[in-house]
Amino acid sequence: MLKKLILVLNCGSSSVKFSIFDPFSKKKYVFGNIECLFLKNTRANIVIDSKIYKEKLLDYSDHFYALSFVFNFIKKKFFHFYKNIYGIGHRVVHGGDKINESIIIDEKILKIIKDSVVFAPLHNPANLIGIKIAYKFFPNLKKKNIAVFDTSFHTSIPKKSYLYAIPYKFYKKYKIRRYGAHGISYSYIMLKLENILQKPQKKLNVIICHLGNGSSVTAIQNGKSIDTSMGLTPLEGLVMGTRSGDLDPAIIFFMYNQLGIKIKNIENILTKKSGLLGINGHSSDCRYLEKNYFFHDEAKLAIDIFCHRLLKYIGSYSVLIKGKLDALVFTGGIGENSFLIRKKIISKLSLLGFYIDDDLNISIKKKKTYFINKKSSRDILVIPTKEELFIAMETRRLIENQ
Ligand code: ADP
Repeated sequence: MLKKLILVLNCGSSSVKFSIFDPFSKKKYVFGNIECLFLKNTRANIVIDSKIYKEKLLDYSDHFYALSFVFNFIKKKFFHFYKNIYGIGHRVVHGGDKINESIIIDEKILKIIKDSVVFAPLHNPANLIGIKIAYKFFPNLKKKNIAVFDTSFHTSIPKKSYLYAIPYKFYKKYKIRRYGAHGISYSYIMLKLENILQKPQKKLNVIICHLGNGSSVTAIQNGKSIDTSMGLTPLEGLVMGTRSGDLDPAIIFFMYNQLGIKIKNIENILTKKSGLLGINGHSSDCRYLEKNYFFHDEAKLAIDIFCHRLLKYIGSYSVLIKGKLDALVFTGGIGENSFLIRKKIISKLSLLGFYIDDDLNISIKKKKTYFINKKSSRDILVIPTKEELFIAMETRRLIENQ
C-alpha cells in the first residue's frame, strides 16, 4: 500500500534524470531520464515496475515540454504513484558559500540559486526550471520542494584551502574561490561509512575518490570536508572523461597568444576535448581504455596519467589528515567498476598502509562486502553512490521536521 513518495529531479543542461522513491523502504518505483534536450532526437526513457517505456518526444524539446510530457505520462498511466508524491527533492549544483545543508526552497533560496548561476551557468538555470515545473504540476506541494546542493558538503573547507593565490579582491568582490562538487555523493558515502565502519561521522577521517565522467577526490577530517580537488568550477583537479583537470594557467595564454585560438574554443578544448579523451584520441569511456590498455600506447597513457594525478592528491590529502586515515573509498562509475584503476592506485599506497586483496578487488561486485583490502591493511572500500536516494532521504527528513 503506497502512501508517501518522493519525486527526485536532477535537471542538467541537456538531460534530466527523475525518480520516485518510497523514502521509508528506500524502494525506487519509477526512474528514468530525458535525453537530447534542444537536439534532434529528444526522447524519454521511463522505467516503471521494471518495464521500460521509450518515448519519442518532439525534436528540440526544452525542459518544460519534456518534463511536462513525463509527468503527464506518469499521471495518466500510473496515477497511484503520481497522487502519492508528498515531497520533491531537487539536486542543485551550486548554492554559493553560504548554504551548508539541504533546505526547503523559498524566495530567499531561489535568489541564492539565481545568484550562483555565474558559477554553474549550465546547471543552475536548469535546476531553477525544474523547480518551476514542480511548482506548476504540484501546486499543493509548493512548500515541500527541497534543494539538496552539491556544494554544501564543502562549506567546511578552511579558507587556506579554498582561497586561490590571486589578488584578494577577486575573492572579496567576485567570490572567486574553491567551491568543490559531488557533495551529494560524498554526503551519501559518509552516511554509509558511518554504518559500515560503526563509527560516528564526526570521528571519521577518510579520503573519498568519486571517479566518473567527472571525477573528484576529497579529504575528510572528523567527518568534515577539509579539501577537495574541484575548484571554482568542476574543471579543476583530476583528469576526467573530457576535462583536463589541473593545468598551468599559462597554457591558456599560450593557446590564445601563440596559437590564435579563441577563448570560447579554448574553453571547449579544456572541457570537452581533453582528459582521457584528449590523451588517447578515441574515447572518454574508461571501459574502452581498459580493453585497450595493453594494446594501444595512448590508452595506457590516458589511464596512467589519470592514476598518477589521483595518487598525487591522495598522498597530499593523507598529509592534511595527518596520516590518521580510517579508510580510502572508491565510488562513481570508474571507482565502482574499474578494478584495473583501483589496483594501479592502491599498489602505490603501501607507504600509507594500504594493501589490496586482488581477489576481492576483482570479485567485489559479486561479494556481499564493501572491502577490498588485505587483512593487514587499512580499510579500502568500494561503495556504490546513490545520490538520488540521498536527495529523497533529505527531502523526507526536512518535510518531517517542518
Ligand atoms: P557521471 O560523472 O556522468 O555520473 P558515472 O559515475 O556514471 O559518470 O561514470 C561514468 C564512467 O564510468 C565512464 O568513464 C565509464 O567508462 C566508467 N565505467 C562504467 N562501467 C565501467 C566498468 N564496468 N569498468 C570500467 N569503467 C566503467
